[in-house]
Amino acid sequence: MTSYKTVNPATGEAGQEFPTLDQAGVESALARAQSGFESWRTTEPDERARILAKTADLYKERADELATSISVEMGKPIKQSHQEVQITTAIFAWYAENGPALLADEVLDVPPAEESLVHKRPVGPLIGVMPWNFPYYQVARFAAPNLMLGNTILLKHAGSCPQSALLIEEIFQQAGLPKDAYINVFADTDQIADMIADPRVHGVSLTGSEKAGASVGATAGKNLKKVVLELGGSDPFIVLDNHNLDATVKAAARGRLSNTGQACNGAKRIIVLADVYDEFVPQLTAAFAATTPGDPLDPETKLGPLSSQTALDSLMEQVANAIDKGATVLTGGNAVDGPGAFVEPTLLTDVTPEMRAYEEELFGPVAVVYKVASAEEAVTLANSSAFGLSGSVWSGDLLSARDVADQLDVGMAFVNEHGTTLPGLPFGGVKRSGFGRELGSWGMDEFVNKKLVRVS
Ligand code: NDP
Repeated sequence: MTSYKTVNPATGEAGQEFPTLDQAGVESALARAQSGFESWRTTEPDERARILAKTADLYKERADELATSISVEMGKPIKQSHQEVQITTAIFAWYAENGPALLADEVLDVPPAEESLVHKRPVGPLIGVMPWNFPYYQVARFAAPNLMLGNTILLKHAGSCPQSALLIEEIFQQAGLPKDAYINVFADTDQIADMIADPRVHGVSLTGSEKAGASVGATAGKNLKKVVLELGGSDPFIVLDNHNLDATVKAAARGRLSNTGQACNGAKRIIVLADVYDEFVPQLTAAFAATTPGDPLDPETKLGPLSSQTALDSLMEQVANAIDKGATVLTGGNAVDGPGAFVEPTLLTDVTPEMRAYEEELFGPVAVVYKVASAEEAVTLANSSAFGLSGSVWSGDLLSARDVADQLDVGMAFVNEHGTTLPGLPFGGVKRSGFGRELGSWGMDEFVNKKLVRVS
């Protein structure tokens, strides 16, 4: 049962609650998205870009309020909340700057016709289903390119961050976006299924769990609607040698612990070559142990609580399952006593395929360390996951590192960096991490009618 309610995960304190839509509310949202589309599709691209640029300005101006809202609703350390507001600002600014050019017609030289053109036209109202882990950034990845295209949006945000969801809508309106071009809907999952089936809706994009993705994808498929899915990951962080070891250790700890480990592209599996394992792992263990969880509103805090008590319970079940079956805890392994959904940063090793931690996504500050004998073994282990979001390779030998990166079955492979996201770079995965791409020009390729007009 969906509810829209703020519960501060650092204290357990309940805040504001919002009612879900009734049937009349669902119908009204659909009708508004459709009528909004009729005018938004004909708005000049430069005007759409102007509104997105204004949206970016407002994220900058209102950064303190925006950052505090997500820190309270999902527990992100405030400094990282500010970083999320900054990348969100950059995404809106990027589409404002580059969007009009990306919408230019493509001219094809295919005789004998006089002219063959491909126009990029919007498809209509879309639904976005978004998670709580990056409440602004995830919405921006979907909304910015699609508003630039001329599509309109019905946005169902996670039940745990309703106030942040309302701020997103408010900022669009303050920026001058017509109020029917982006509509926040506090809908339950049955209502979302009905909305996907409605003929006025032309596509759906979901970021979240495999379970939610499979459900939304099934409804979309049954109704012949295009779907983009950005799901989980169990991304490998492969250390080939001891080049820049201190920096690599820091990157591994940051790649796993930032956002309190609740990122789809976190460095969840640290795969280390035997030659460097005994040097690398004690340092990583120390870095984890030194990162103590604290109040998300304190600017010094690097690790917050998990997003909810439910999230904590399910992570601790996965950890307990691994320990029961023989995994070794290098550091951490426990929830923190007292109020709030805090977990110790945890490093596990000796994890084997019969443990849940081997295959499942661990959505919290828990990493699994593996020792391998060779780069080939590292690739085999990395690719044994059902997920394929991103991966990184760390080495002073760029040729070897690129070769390993090339062999990873992922949507994004990095050498000597992990999990970089920038507005101009594509974002998305393969296998059970989903399909479709967000950001950059690729983000404008998903819900677009590439319409051929040929004149003879
Ligand atoms: P969910 O996938 O359940 O939530 C993500 C969004 O999907 C929310 O808006 C949620 O709504 C919505 N949703 C869930 N089921 C449906 C459905 N059947 N139809 C329509 N919308 C739906 O994630 P959880 O918050 O439950 O987290 C569970 C796990 O999912 C995590 O531990 C993690 O492994 C993974 N996850 C991955 C994310 C990523 O970035 N890849 C992000 C979030 C979670 P509501 O909140 O109302 O349930």
